[in-house]
Amino acid sequence: MLHEKENIKKYLLSAIRTVPDFPKQGIQFKDITTLLADKKALALTTQELSKPFLDSEADVIVGLESRGFLFGTNIAEVLNASFVPVRKPGKLPAETISENYELEYGTDSVEIHADSIKKGDKVIIHDDLIATGGTACAASKLVKRLGGTIIGYSFIMELGFLNGRKKLDHKKVESLLII
Ligand code: AMP
Repeated sequence: MLHEKENIKKYLLSAIRTVPDFPKQGIQFKDITTLLADKKALALTTQELSKPFLDSEADVIVGLESRGFLFGTNIAEVLNASFVPVRKPGKLPAETISENYELEYGTDSVEIHADSIKKGDKVIIHDDLIATGGTACAASKLVKRLGGTIIGYSFIMELGFLNGRKKLDHKKVESLLII
């Protein structure tokens, strides 16, 4: 069983392309378009992301723009939950609330539709990758402001050396690949 899990991880890791110096010098960009283009990796990723939450009775998967939309909806389908996007400013058409967060240089912000989460909804936050944890942390504040309860976080990849999970301050942070 452990063997199978390790093989799946190896396979998924090999399906992800690392592009050096994109979008700027010094960044090792983790490109999941190659994983999406491989139908076996696509199915395995949805399966493995969903697994830790099968008994969670989640109501909503919140996916973070934009690569968090790709598997966020897949996970929602498997878990019989709904999907809600968190987007960059100015993209969502109806009434929104927003949260600012710190970047290395300057600040950024994220938005969610004000009517997208109901009080008491059990929410999983999903993105393709956690680096510093700033984006996921800002998204969690949006969910909490709308009355949702965060029951966990889900990522395909985690840049372990940045320790972004510390910022999330939650027991259930599930990353398929720690790199
Ligand atoms: P952070 O807020 O620092 O955790 O950054 C996470 C967001 O930035 C996610 O939406 C990722 O898709 C993106 N991101 C950060 N670093 C990388 C990287 N090395 N490769 C691909 N995406 C990244």
